[in-house]
Amino acid sequence: MNIGFSEVLLNIKARISVDILDKDIPRIRRRILTWGRANHKHFPWRKTTKLWHGLIAEILLQRTRAATAVSIYEQFISNFPEPKDLASASVKEIEKLIYPLGLRWRAPLLKQLGEELDRLGGEPPPSFEQLLKLPGVGPYAAAAWLSFHGGGRGVIIDANVVRWICRLIDRKCDAETRRKKWLIQLADRLTPQRSSGEFNYAVLDFTMEICATRPKCSVCPVGAELCAYGKRVLLKEL
Ligand code: SF4
Repeated sequence: MNIGFSEVLLNIKARISVDILDKDIPRIRRRILTWGRANHKHFPWRKTTKLWHGLIAEILLQRTRAATAVSIYEQFISNFPEPKDLASASVKEIEKLIYPLGLRWRAPLLKQLGEELDRLGGEPPPSFEQLLKLPGVGPYAAAAWLSFHGGGRGVIIDANVVRWICRLIDRKCDAETRRKKWLIQLADRLTPQRSSGEFNYAVLDFTMEICATRPKCSVCPVGAELCAYGKRVLLKEL
Protein backbone atom coordinates (compact mmCIF):
# COMPACT_ATOMS: atom_id res chain seq x y z
CA MET A 1 0.00 0.00 0.00
CA ASN A 2 1.37 3.40 -1.00
CA ILE A 3 1.38 6.03 1.71
CA GLY A 4 1.46 9.68 0.62
CA PHE A 5 4.00 12.20 1.91
CA SER A 6 1.40 14.03 4.03
CA GLU A 7 0.39 10.76 5.72
CA VAL A 8 4.02 9.96 6.49
CA LEU A 9 4.39 13.43 7.99
CA LEU A 10 1.24 12.95 10.06
CA ASN A 11 2.51 9.61 11.34
CA ILE A 12 5.84 11.16 12.34
CA LYS A 13 4.07 14.03 14.09
CA ALA A 14 1.77 11.62 15.92
CA ARG A 15 4.77 9.62 17.11
CA ILE A 16 6.66 12.69 18.25
CA SER A 17 3.66 14.25 19.97
CA VAL A 18 3.04 11.31 22.31
CA ASP A 19 6.64 10.95 23.36
CA ILE A 20 8.72 12.09 26.28
CA LEU A 21 12.42 11.34 25.97
CA ASP A 22 13.72 8.65 28.32
CA LYS A 23 16.38 11.00 29.64
CA ASP A 24 13.71 13.55 30.61
CA ILE A 25 11.62 11.15 32.69
CA PRO A 26 13.89 11.15 35.80
CA ARG A 27 14.28 14.93 35.53
CA ILE A 28 10.53 15.47 35.50
CA ARG A 29 10.11 13.04 38.41
CA ARG A 30 12.82 14.75 40.47
CA ARG A 31 11.30 18.19 39.96
CA ILE A 32 7.81 16.97 40.87
CA LEU A 33 9.11 15.16 43.96
CA THR A 34 11.11 18.16 45.17
CA TRP A 35 8.09 20.42 44.71
CA GLY A 36 5.85 17.83 46.40
CA ARG A 37 8.08 17.58 49.48
CA ALA A 38 7.94 21.33 49.97
CA ASN A 39 4.23 21.65 49.25
CA HIS A 40 2.68 18.47 50.65
CA LYS A 41 -1.01 18.96 51.45
CA HIS A 42 -2.43 17.50 54.63
CA PHE A 43 -5.68 15.62 54.38
CA PRO A 44 -7.03 13.27 57.08
CA TRP A 45 -6.93 10.17 54.82
CA ARG A 46 -3.24 10.71 54.16
CA LYS A 47 -2.40 9.85 57.74
CA THR A 48 -5.02 7.23 58.52
CA THR A 49 -3.69 4.06 60.11
CA LYS A 50 -6.76 2.07 59.10
CA LEU A 51 -6.07 0.62 55.68
CA TRP A 52 -9.71 0.24 54.75
CA HIS A 53 -10.43 3.90 55.55
CA GLY A 54 -7.77 4.73 52.97
CA LEU A 55 -9.74 2.74 50.39
CA ILE A 56 -12.97 4.51 51.35
CA ALA A 57 -11.18 7.86 50.88
CA GLU A 58 -9.98 6.92 47.39
CA ILE A 59 -13.52 5.93 46.42
CA LEU A 60 -15.01 9.16 47.82
CA LEU A 61 -12.33 11.27 46.13
CA GLN A 62 -13.11 10.21 42.58
CA ARG A 63 -14.43 13.19 40.63
CA THR A 64 -14.53 15.21 43.87
CA ARG A 65 -12.32 18.03 45.06
CA ALA A 66 -10.28 16.86 48.05
CA ALA A 67 -11.30 19.87 50.17
CA THR A 68 -14.99 19.05 49.59
CA ALA A 69 -14.50 15.45 50.68
CA VAL A 70 -12.83 16.19 54.05
CA SER A 71 -15.94 16.61 56.24
CA ILE A 72 -17.81 13.74 54.55
CA TYR A 73 -14.82 11.44 55.01
CA GLU A 74 -14.49 12.39 58.69
CA GLN A 75 -18.16 11.73 59.29
CA PHE A 76 -17.94 8.46 57.37
CA ILE A 77 -15.08 7.02 59.44
CA SER A 78 -16.68 8.21 62.67
CA ASN A 79 -20.00 6.49 61.76
CA PHE A 80 -18.27 3.38 60.40
CA PRO A 81 -15.04 2.70 62.28
CA GLU A 82 -14.94 -0.94 61.08
CA PRO A 83 -16.15 -2.68 57.90
CA LYS A 84 -18.82 -4.52 59.92
CA ASP A 85 -20.34 -1.15 60.90
CA LEU A 86 -20.65 -0.21 57.23
CA ALA A 87 -21.99 -3.66 56.39
CA SER A 88 -24.76 -3.34 58.96
CA ALA A 89 -25.76 0.24 58.00
CA SER A 90 -28.80 0.81 55.81
CA VAL A 91 -28.29 1.92 52.19
CA LYS A 92 -30.41 5.00 53.02
CA GLU A 93 -28.04 5.99 55.85
CA ILE A 94 -24.98 5.67 53.58
CA GLU A 95 -26.78 7.52 50.78
CA LYS A 96 -27.60 10.43 53.07
CA LEU A 97 -23.98 10.68 54.18
CA ILE A 98 -22.41 10.74 50.71
CA TYR A 99 -25.19 12.74 49.03
CA PRO A 100 -23.20 16.06 49.06
CA LEU A 101 -20.49 14.42 46.93
CA GLY A 102 -23.00 13.44 44.24
CA LEU A 103 -22.16 9.79 44.85
CA ARG A 104 -25.55 8.59 46.14
CA TRP A 105 -25.62 5.79 43.61
CA ARG A 106 -22.50 4.33 45.21
CA ALA A 107 -24.26 3.66 48.54
CA PRO A 108 -25.27 0.03 47.79
CA LEU A 109 -21.74 -0.67 46.53
CA LEU A 110 -20.21 0.79 49.69
CA LYS A 111 -22.44 -1.41 51.82
CA GLN A 112 -21.35 -4.46 49.78
CA LEU A 113 -17.74 -3.33 50.16
CA GLY A 114 -18.19 -3.25 53.95
CA GLU A 115 -19.61 -6.79 53.82
CA GLU A 116 -16.76 -8.07 51.64
CA LEU A 117 -14.02 -6.42 53.72
CA ASP A 118 -15.59 -7.78 56.90
CA ARG A 119 -15.53 -11.23 55.31
CA LEU A 120 -11.83 -10.70 54.41
CA GLY A 121 -10.93 -9.89 58.00
CA GLY A 122 -11.19 -6.10 57.80
CA GLU A 123 -8.38 -5.24 55.38
CA PRO A 124 -8.24 -4.73 51.62
CA PRO A 125 -6.24 -7.35 49.67
CA PRO A 126 -2.71 -6.37 48.60
CA SER A 127 -2.90 -6.85 44.81
CA PHE A 128 -4.35 -4.66 42.05
CA GLU A 129 -6.31 -7.55 40.53
CA GLN A 130 -7.82 -8.56 43.87
CA LEU A 131 -8.71 -4.95 44.68
CA LEU A 132 -10.56 -4.62 41.38
CA LYS A 133 -12.82 -7.49 42.41
CA LEU A 134 -14.12 -5.52 45.41
CA PRO A 135 -17.53 -3.82 44.99
CA GLY A 136 -17.18 -0.17 43.97
CA VAL A 137 -13.40 -0.31 43.45
CA GLY A 138 -12.23 0.75 40.00
CA PRO A 139 -8.71 1.10 38.52
CA TYR A 140 -8.15 4.58 40.02
CA ALA A 141 -9.14 3.66 43.60
CA ALA A 142 -7.19 0.39 43.38
CA ALA A 143 -3.99 2.05 42.10
CA ALA A 144 -4.27 4.97 44.53
CA TRP A 145 -4.86 2.70 47.53
CA LEU A 146 -1.97 0.42 46.56
CA SER A 147 0.51 3.27 46.28
CA PHE A 148 -0.71 5.36 49.25
CA HIS A 149 -1.78 2.74 51.77
CA GLY A 150 -0.96 -0.74 50.53
CA GLY A 151 2.83 -0.43 50.24
CA GLY A 152 2.77 -1.31 46.54
CA ARG A 153 3.15 0.46 43.22
CA GLY A 154 0.21 2.15 41.57
CA VAL A 155 -0.12 4.33 38.47
CA ILE A 156 -2.87 6.87 39.04
CA ILE A 157 -4.74 8.44 36.16
CA ASP A 158 -7.40 11.00 37.00
CA ALA A 159 -8.60 14.03 35.04
CA ASN A 160 -5.84 16.27 36.47
CA VAL A 161 -3.09 13.76 35.66
CA VAL A 162 -4.42 13.38 32.10
CA ARG A 163 -4.40 17.17 31.65
CA TRP A 164 -0.82 17.41 32.96
CA ILE A 165 0.53 14.62 30.75
CA CYS A 166 -1.23 16.07 27.69
CA ARG A 167 0.40 19.42 28.39
CA LEU A 168 3.84 17.83 28.77
CA ILE A 169 3.55 16.72 25.14
CA ASP A 170 1.26 19.60 24.11
CA ARG A 171 -1.56 17.39 22.98
CA LYS A 172 -5.30 18.04 23.29
CA CYS A 173 -7.17 15.75 25.66
CA ASP A 174 -10.82 14.84 26.04
CA ALA A 175 -12.96 12.55 28.17
CA GLU A 176 -11.66 9.49 26.31
CA THR A 177 -7.95 10.28 26.63
CA ARG A 178 -7.59 8.54 30.00
CA ARG A 179 -8.34 5.20 28.29
CA LYS A 180 -5.80 5.64 25.47
CA LYS A 181 -2.88 3.25 25.41
CA TRP A 182 -0.29 5.99 24.82
CA LEU A 183 -1.53 7.96 27.83
CA ILE A 184 -1.50 4.91 30.11
CA GLN A 185 2.02 4.06 28.91
CA LEU A 186 3.26 7.60 29.56
CA ALA A 187 1.73 7.65 33.05
CA ASP A 188 3.41 4.31 33.73
CA ARG A 189 6.79 5.57 32.51
CA LEU A 190 6.55 8.69 34.64
CA THR A 191 5.65 6.77 37.82
CA PRO A 192 8.74 5.45 39.65
CA GLN A 193 9.00 1.76 40.51
CA ARG A 194 9.73 2.58 44.14
CA SER A 195 7.98 5.10 46.39
CA SER A 196 5.20 5.61 43.87
CA GLY A 197 3.02 6.86 46.75
CA GLU A 198 5.23 9.85 47.43
CA PHE A 199 5.41 10.66 43.71
CA ASN A 200 1.65 10.28 43.29
CA TYR A 201 0.91 12.58 46.24
CA ALA A 202 3.25 15.14 44.70
CA VAL A 203 1.52 14.83 41.31
CA LEU A 204 -1.95 15.19 42.86
CA ASP A 205 -0.90 18.31 44.79
CA PHE A 206 1.02 19.72 41.82
CA THR A 207 -1.87 19.27 39.37
CA MET A 208 -4.23 20.82 41.91
CA GLU A 209 -2.07 23.87 42.53
CA ILE A 210 0.34 24.51 39.65
CA CYS A 211 -0.66 22.61 36.53
CA ALA A 212 -4.28 23.36 37.35
CA THR A 213 -7.09 24.20 34.92
CA ARG A 214 -5.32 27.55 34.49
CA PRO A 215 -1.68 26.51 34.55
CA LYS A 216 0.85 28.63 36.45
CA CYS A 217 3.68 28.01 34.00
CA SER A 218 5.75 30.97 35.21
CA VAL A 219 6.23 29.34 38.64
CA CYS A 220 6.22 25.73 37.51
CA PRO A 221 9.09 23.48 38.66
CA VAL A 222 8.82 21.36 35.48
CA GLY A 223 9.11 24.41 33.27
CA ALA A 224 9.45 25.11 29.58
CA GLU A 225 12.59 22.99 29.31
CA LEU A 226 10.66 19.78 29.95
CA CYS A 227 7.11 20.70 29.02
CA ALA A 228 5.96 21.33 25.44
CA TYR A 229 2.97 23.44 26.49
CA GLY A 230 5.15 25.47 28.86
CA LYS A 231 7.61 26.01 26.02
CA ARG A 232 4.84 27.31 23.78
CA VAL A 233 3.66 29.72 26.50
CA LEU A 234 7.20 30.98 27.01
CA LEU A 235 7.77 31.52 23.27
CA LYS A 236 4.53 33.53 23.03
CA GLU A 237 5.67 35.77 25.86
CA LEU A 238 9.07 36.52 24.26
S1 SF4 B 1 4.99 24.36 32.39
FE1 SF4 B 1 2.81 24.89 32.57
S2 SF4 B 1 1.72 23.34 31.40
FE2 SF4 B 1 3.80 22.56 31.78
S3 SF4 B 1 3.66 21.32 33.60
FE3 SF4 B 1 4.21 23.37 34.25
S4 SF4 B 1 2.27 24.44 34.70
FE4 SF4 B 1 1.81 22.59 33.51
